[in-house]
Amino acid sequence: MSTEPSAPQSLRGRSFAETSSAVLDLIRSSGEITRVELSRRAALTEATISKVVKDLLAKGVIVESGRTESTGGKPATLLRLDTSTLWSVGVVLDLTHIVVVLCAIDGSRVSSIDIRPAPDDDPDEILRRVAAAILELLDGRTIAPSSAIGIGVAVAGRRGYQDPEAVITDWTERTPVDIRLAELTGIEVLLENDANCAALNEFWSGGIAAGHDFAVVYAADGIGAGIVIDGDVYRGRSAHAGEIGHVYVDRGRTPCWCGRQGCLEVTGTPQAVARRVSRMPDLMAELGLAGDASPRSIYSAVAASAAAGRPTALAVIQEAAEYLATAVVGMANTLDLDLVFLAGPGFADAGQIFLGAVRAALDTSYVHTLHPVEVQLRSVDPNAAAVGAASLVLHRRLTPHHTA
Ligand SMILES: [Zn+2]
Repeated sequence: MSTEPSAPQSLRGRSFAETSSAVLDLIRSSGEITRVELSRRAALTEATISKVVKDLLAKGVIVESGRTESTGGKPATLLRLDTSTLWSVGVVLDLTHIVVVLCAIDGSRVSSIDIRPAPDDDPDEILRRVAAAILELLDGRTIAPSSAIGIGVAVAGRRGYQDPEAVITDWTERTPVDIRLAELTGIEVLLENDANCAALNEFWSGGIAAGHDFAVVYAADGIGAGIVIDGDVYRGRSAHAGEIGHVYVDRGRTPCWCGRQGCLEVTGTPQAVARRVSRMPDLMAELGLAGDASPRSIYSAVAASAAAGRPTALAVIQEAAEYLATAVVGMANTLDLDLVFLAGPGFADAGQIFLGAVRAALDTSYVHTLHPVEVQLRSVDPNAAAVGAASLVLHRRLTPHHTA
């Protein structure tokens, strides 16, 4: 991941815990680093760094991983995250497909279990199966539950939000998933929306330094953004920051359930595309879809057809990509961003079309007159949000100075 190192920022005067947290974050974002370089980057004495490093080594959070190439002077010892002692669990809760992943503390996936609940399964029974899967993953690696520093759960969209036309009437927004799962496993549970999980995953695993602000546009059924500022997700007044679904993008003024018109939510999201295509009988026939096809199967078929270059499908996806690009330009201009990622299963088939539209729009935007804006297509794997949820735990528990 290309990113500039964070500017030296003095940690003098902070508590040992805060200093330790910030030093660990420098080790994370660097991949591998020497004590001398840590001292320079953190603007702390080598004696202080030595004390913090000794403590992190004793806790099994970091490990000495080798030595620098000798360039005349004495080779220095390299430090990196220890991927063999502490673990994090991530879960993505979806009505039809639940993924549970076990991750090492660098955010890498170690193993996973898929669960496919039936639509009428009892939510508590589903949570029991999720808890059993978590304990099975730990047991499979002979990891004591006490070595799991937490369970992160990614849920679609925002808590409290109810779209009357939503594809999923999401029970996860009405069931106290965090409390119940903690009771069943004895492990602390953190809950976060999928876009913020995806953003924290890029931050934690992507080697991004704390000073480098960026956004992840996450597409599943809907589209949201996770915005990372100063090393943490920006939440806003009610944790709905990054809800770019209600940015005005459409001159056709399609009414939106939020009360306004022309929102990205009703024009450019996978759900909105599926709704539009379901009213295009010729295209439905061309895609080989029956009238009762599910919104997800409609979207997937039209996206794949667009990627194959078929004109009608391409026009539909291109239009959606331009709506998204309009919303992303607004966000990048507002936040003065130079780094945007596209991630999530909504970009699985036609990601290159969305990437092209967003890049082209940003290349002619205000923010581009200030500096280049890098846009990258990242993981479109439906499990990405689960790995992101594991990263959420690592971020909150190992570097709490970001959220303190
Ligand atoms: Zn709206």
